[in-house]
Amino acid sequence: MLLIPCPWCGERVEAEFRYGGEAHLKRPDNHLLCSDETWAEYLFMRRNPKGWHRERWMHLAGCKRWFYVVRHTQTHRIAAAYKVGEAWPALPA
Ligand SMILES: [Zn+2]
Repeated sequence: MLLIPCPWCGERVEAEFRYGGEAHLKRPDNHLLCSDETWAEYLFMRRNPKGWHRERWMHLAGCKRWFYVVRHTQTHRIAAAYKVGEAWPALPA
């Protein structure tokens, strides 16, 4: 089980959190006029890397706040957790 460092509450077990998928997705500027292909890309297509990944998590059983985590998808190691609006930490090498 993962130990996830909530930026407000500290490290807690994974069961307290809700996974929110890939972080920092950019909604198309004018979603009402964009093509179906662009909208489908935004809704369904994800990077799914083998390596470092920026993810959204919500501390459901705690502070109920959304934040971001930098996690390695193969080792599950967590390199950073940061609040919405904070500068993105660099991905580890
Ligand atoms: Zn929390």
